[in-house]
Formats: sequence, C-alpha cells, structure tokens
Amino acid sequence: MDVSRIRQKIYLLRMARDKVENIALKARPMIDGYWVEKYIECRRPGCKCSTGEKHGPYYYISRTIEGRTHLEYVKEDQMRIEDMCKNWSSHSASVAEMVKHNRQIEKLYRQLAKAQVKKRRRGYG
Ligand SMILES: [Zn+2]
Repeated sequence: MDVSRIRQKIYLLRMARDKVENIALKARPMIDGYWVEKYIECRRPGCKCSTGEKHGPYYYISRTIEGRTHLEYVKEDQMRIEDMCKNWSSHSASVAEMVKHNRQIEKLYRQLAKAQVKKRRRGYG
C-alpha cells in the first residue's frame, strides 16, 4: 500500500472511531449488567406452556462474575432498569468497537512508517 492510501485509511478509521467514542462519552445512568427477557415452561401437567405458549416474559439483569452468569430478577420499574442496562450494553459495545479501530489504526501507522523508510545500500548520509 502506498503512503497516501494508508493515510486515507487511517483518516477514515479515525472518523469511525470518533463516532463510537462520542457514544461512549455520553453521560448516561447505567446498571452494570445485560438486559435479559425469558419465557419459561413450568412443570404443571396440562399447562398451556407445554404446547409452546410459555410464561413470561420475565426480566433479569445478567452479569458474569468469575466466569459464571448470574441472573438477578427484576420485578419493579422495568422500563427504567431496561434502559439503564441498555446504556451499559451500548457503552460496552462502543468501547469494544473503539479498541478494534485503535488496533487497526496502530497497524496502519506501522505500515505508514515502513512505507516512508528510505531505501539505502549501507550506512546513513
Ligand atoms: Zn406452564
């Protein structure tokens, strides 16, 4: 890749990174977990759920603690808690995207440096 093409790619990636970074920068109330909706099958004989019409939705906040998933049941103020969990998801996704862009940008900067190194036979000057 030539220098101008590399620079153009860096420029575009910086714009994409800024976009997700601006999302991550927004101040929003959050709950540190993911919003989960579940439909459940009970074990009562002859219940409608055994034919596919499951009970629910029931709402939970999902967190991974020491490699295990924990679900916290949400019974009140569901809309508000859902919004706050979704803010957490959005923030986490933006940061992950930002990191991905940064890695690509770093790689391109290395390529940019290599593309600008002067070819020489021996020594400097
Ligand atoms: Zn049932």
